[in-house]
Amino acid sequence: MERTAAEVPGLVPVCKGNGYGFGLGRLARKAQWLDDRAATAREADPDGPGAGRTPVDTIAVGTYDELAHVRTRFGGSLLVLTPWRPFGTAAETRDPRVVHTVSRLDDLEALLAQDPDARYVLERRTSMLRHGMDARDLWRAADLLRRPAARGGRGLEGVAFHLPLEQGSHLGEVQRLMTDVVAAGLPTTTVWASHLTHHELATLRTQYADYTWRPRVGTSLWLGDRSALSVTSTVLDAHPVERGDAFGYRSRTAPKAGHLLIVSGGTAHGIGLEAPTGESSVKARAAALARGGLDAVGFVRSPFSTDGKQRLFAEPPHMQASMLFLPAGARVPEVGEKVPVRVRYTTTTFDRVVVS
Ligand SMILES: *Cc1c(COP(=O)(O)O)cnc(C)c1O
Repeated sequence: MERTAAEVPGLVPVCKGNGYGFGLGRLARKAQWLDDRAATAREADPDGPGAGRTPVDTIAVGTYDELAHVRTRFGGSLLVLTPWRPFGTAAETRDPRVVHTVSRLDDLEALLAQDPDARYVLERRTSMLRHGMDARDLWRAADLLRRPAARGGRGLEGVAFHLPLEQGSHLGEVQRLMTDVVAAGLPTTTVWASHLTHHELATLRTQYADYTWRPRVGTSLWLGDRSALSVTSTVLDAHPVERGDAFGYRSRTAPKAGHLLIVSGGTAHGIGLEAPTGESSVKARAAALARGGLDAVGFVRSPFSTDGKQRLFAEPPHMQASMLFLPAGARVPEVGEKVPVRVRYTTTTFDRVVVS
């Protein structure tokens, strides 16, 4: 994380959603810490590599409702990635630290009418086609900002591009978008962008040397080194079962002898049912039946493993726990033992995050 922060000038840490698994508050505090570290590095090393560390003066949140989680923990500007709309929490937000994203011409007029002091970036639509203005809209926005009511566009803090995840180079697309931005004659020279590689950023900084580039980075900043992270569940109980024994919410019967293993982590944490194991074709199912495979009786793969083997759910995950089926012969873990779980960090609610 620190290396990314030191290597990416103008970095805007993205603190959104579930905080990439760490929680929004923790990420906001970390971003503040990165800013403090950068300041210390600049002071200690005014002529060396530390001097190149730029302040972390802004973080980005996903939604207006997320602002409450970060406001008191980070002292700089707060860019909201969801475009401003004239309703909901957006329309209620008046905060000199907030930088709005404006993606429609009508919203630019409405925002300025509501809050002439608003700070905002104009989003240019990209090949993502999520939000944003086209080239003509940017041109019109520039006209609108020349009106006295827009205070000459003093609230404009840049143009924003939301680029798709890397599929080859972004350079061609960014150059086309920049042509529109330059032609529109907007009173700004700052570009906020996602998903640019170090190399692409370096190239763009050379090609558009009079522009300031602000890369918004989440995943590669917070989850860049997956080997530094591990997720575990705790074994809560284990019960031996014979073939035909009933268990669970729906009294289904055990297809074989083995153990039911109850582990922490369920739907409340975002543990969901995954696709049935293997192929679901009739032929594959018949083969599984012939083998006596558990997938043939409808058991589906769980994200939990013991002794290096991914285990099957004995029934769909419960709110706070999951029931797994351990076939006879498998070692039965002790109650209290930690077992690995494979989950997506951005969709999981963790009981505890331990930094060691
Ligand atoms: C989520 C998001 C980002 C950051 O994406 P990562 O892949 O986590 O780095 C940047 N910009 C926008 C508009 C986003 O929604």
